[in-house]
Amino acid sequence: MTMTGPQKKKKHHVGDTFYKRKYKTKHRARDIDEVDQDLKKENADRLLKQALDFDKPGEGQHYCIHCARYFLSDQVLQDHFRTKLHKKRIKELKLEPYTIEEAERAAGFGSYIAPKERVIVTQPINVEEYKEPEEVADICSLNIDLQ
Ligand SMILES: [Zn+2]
Repeated sequence: MTMTGPQKKKKHHVGDTFYKRKYKTKHRARDIDEVDQDLKKENADRLLKQALDFDKPGEGQHYCIHCARYFLSDQVLQDHFRTKLHKKRIKELKLEPYTIEEAERAAGFGSYIAPKERVIVTQPINVEEYKEPEEVADICSLNIDLQ
C-alpha cells in the first residue's frame, strides 16, 4: 500500500499546538490529475466515507473531493461549495486533464482534437448519491480558462 502526500505519524498530545500544526501541514494542493482519479466512484467512496482521523481538520469527515480539502464542519463545507475557488475547480475538472494536454499539443501541430466535456457537479450532501463524472459529448469550440 503506498501513500501519497505527507503522512505524518508522529505521536502528539492533543493541546494548543495540535490545532496550529494541522493547518500548516495540510495545505498542499492535490494535482488536478490526481483529483480526476479521485472522482472515480470507488475512490470517491473511500474519500467521502473515511474513518475518523484526528490528524485531519474535522476528523476527515468533511472533505471536498474536487478541491481535495478537508473542512472543519459540514457547515464550513457547504459554505465552501459556494465559493469562487470551488466553482473554478469544478470548471477545470469539466475537461479531462489528458485531453486538454493532447488537444493543445495537437493544436500546435495544426490538427485540433476537440476536448471531451464532462458533467461535473458538486458532490451530493448524501455521499451515497455520489456519481462519477459522465462525458457529455465532443465540443468543437470551448473557452478553456485555466489561469
Ligand atoms: Zn471544493
